[in-house]
Amino acid sequence: MYAEVPTGLADDQQAICAEVHRFGADVLRPASLALDLLTPPEVVDRGSPLWKVFAEWYALGNHAASLPACYGGLELGAATQHGLFVEMGWAAADLAISLGVASMPFQLAAQVAQMTGNDALVDEMIRPFVEDREARYVGCWAITEPGHGSDTLGVGRAEFHDPGGAGACRARRDGGDFIVSGQKSAWVSNGSIATHALLFCTLEEHRGMAGGAVLIVPLDLPGVSRGAPLDKHGQRALNQGEIFFDEVRVPGYCLLADSDMYPFALEMTLTQANTGMSAVFTGLARAAFEQALTYARERVQGGKPIAEHQLVQSKLFTMFARYQQARALSRSVMVGLSELEGLGGLAHAISAKVTCTDTAYALASDAVQIHGGSGLVRGLLVEKLLRDARASLIEDGVNDFLGLVAARQLVDSYVC
Ligand SMILES: Cc1cc2nc3c(=O)[nH]c(=O)nc-3n(C[C@H](O)[C@H](O)[C@H](O)COP(=O)(O)OP(=O)(O)OC[C@H]3O[C@@H](n4cnc5c(N)ncnc54)[C@H](O)[C@@H]3O)c2cc1C
Repeated sequence: MYAEVPTGLADDQQAICAEVHRFGADVLRPASLALDLLTPPEVVDRGSPLWKVFAEWYALGNHAASLPACYGGLELGAATQHGLFVEMGWAAADLAISLGVASMPFQLAAQVAQMTGNDALVDEMIRPFVEDREARYVGCWAITEPGHGSDTLGVGRAEFHDPGGAGACRARRDGGDFIVSGQKSAWVSNGSIATHALLFCTLEEHRGMAGGAVLIVPLDLPGVSRGAPLDKHGQRALNQGEIFFDEVRVPGYCLLADSDMYPFALEMTLTQANTGMSAVFTGLARAAFEQALTYARERVQGGKPIAEHQLVQSKLFTMFARYQQARALSRSVMVGLSELEGLGGLAHAISAKVTCTDTAYALASDAVQIHGGSGLVRGLLVEKLLRDARASLIEDGVNDFLGLVAARQLVDSYVC
């Protein structure tokens, strides 16, 4: 009997992944399929299945999977985290992203607090998040603006330092505080439900996009408002929406990176986000392969299962091989980069994100093809996988543009 190639995880690590697989099968996948058919306002309504997902994830303590043990987090190792992300992506990539982004501001805040010893950050944000068992602390990452998309991620590229290229969402110092004004785009994941934003905004305009700051902003502060939840093609269980800031006073302790540290913080965030994306969409690729294989065995057409046709078998094998490649690459990059001190892994992270999302999209498309007409029916997982995978080619950076960012780094600093 075929089974997954052993991952080399210890028994307790495998048990965590098996538990997340069960959670994915029992909770995430059914909720995601149900949410896919709702309107965006219905998705974020307090009565929707979304809140059951969040409540159960936080009740298990999994929201703190990557936070350091010194603040009460689970501090799972990179190999276990890879298995966890793959299982979540297998179940429902949209909810995997939503739950992952929910932790993002607190995770970066914890990394900063470990370096700086910012006690207010620890007491006001990090510990309450880790101890939360009811999803009262939900994060988002707000970087994209209506007039700024790919360029916000162009770290290392010449135009990143162009004085005319600064973002329009601005922070200025006022005593020890920061005053924030401007808007983040409708693409902010969890933008409709988040309680805290990891806000990337402009602090020193003359330095262009590089003159940014990173703040963790409680979204109940006076002057914060939201747009309507976005209606989109795929990943419909992932709520997204604009966030507006009108002279919002943010306490000084919420600063995670000033302009001197901004490129470093962006590169670190982009590296982690792209690494996580590679694992989540490896999971989606597996789901597509499994859907295709199951259907090919069951579908009897012209008197025999379509799995008996050579062309179908060939397609199934190619899908399997591509999934194995994605799994090996995403795992080696996630584990390898966790051992790296400082920067230097962005090109690797991007190579994993681009390869694994391309693979997920190709395999979801193949799975639809193997389903024939049945693959186009709304409400079936295979049709949803294709829409969810399509969004991943743009999410956390358009794949083409990310390739340019990685190429810049390779040309400038790769040692042969
Ligand atoms: C599902 C999903 C989730 C997302 N989640 C978040 C989130 O949580 N937070 C957030 O802030 N944003 C989020 N985004 C936004 C996402 O990061 C942006 O969509 C992405 O960076 C691209 O920006 P854009 O859509 O403005 O496209 P543009 O930057 O306008 O790009 C459009 C096209 O032009 C090309 N292009 C642009 N610049 C160049 C260049 N210099 N050279 C060559 N080609 C170029 C691109 O490759 C692309 O094909 C999300 C997007 C999606 C789809």
